[in-house]
Amino acid sequence: MAVFECDRCGKCCMSLGALITIERQLNDRDYYCRSKIDNTVFPVCVDPAYREEIADEYDEGVPAHSGPEKLPCRFLRRSRDGDGTTCAIYETRPKVCRDFCCYRLLIRNREGVVCGKVIGKNTIRTEDAALEKLWNDQVTVLPYEDPAAWTKNVSGILEEHDYRADPVE
Ligand code: SF4
Ligand code: SF4
Repeated sequence: MAVFECDRCGKCCMSLGALITIERQLNDRDYYCRSKIDNTVFPVCVDPAYREEIADEYDEGVPAHSGPEKLPCRFLRRSRDGDGTTCAIYETRPKVCRDFCCYRLLIRNREGVVCGKVIGKNTIRTEDAALEKLWNDQVTVLPYEDPAAWTKNVSGILEEHDYRADPVE
């Protein structure tokens, strides 16, 4: 079994602005927030690198993110190293964010190197053209009523072609 590792790309945070909200500010570091996904309130501590800008935005009332439009979570920030995005409350992020796995199956090649990820029901993300073709030809046509049977079938198909399915815990 593979262990899910979030690389903090921020893709899943891009539309959660209306669903992760601040209930109350305690100081420029600490807040009580609400997850409207599972209706929980949770304390957060903002990473020092983002405290000032988040406190300023909160004071100014922007972004409120209360409308229906899909806006990024207010804690999603551009990484200070300039490479991608990060969560400004990563250590204290809510349970829904901790529990979320954006892929559920890794595919390894004969050397054991990850060469594909399966997201959602049966969508593959891969740069391996042969694997992509195999997936499109033989996996996407499999019935999905029984997920355990589906995984077993997929494992068999992959093994026949020198790949290995590694489900995420
Ligand atoms: S859970 Fe997945 S989509 Fe969301 S930030 Fe982590 S790697 Fe990106
Ligand atoms: S709290 Fe962090 S992990 Fe959760 S949606 Fe916001 S930026 Fe993403």
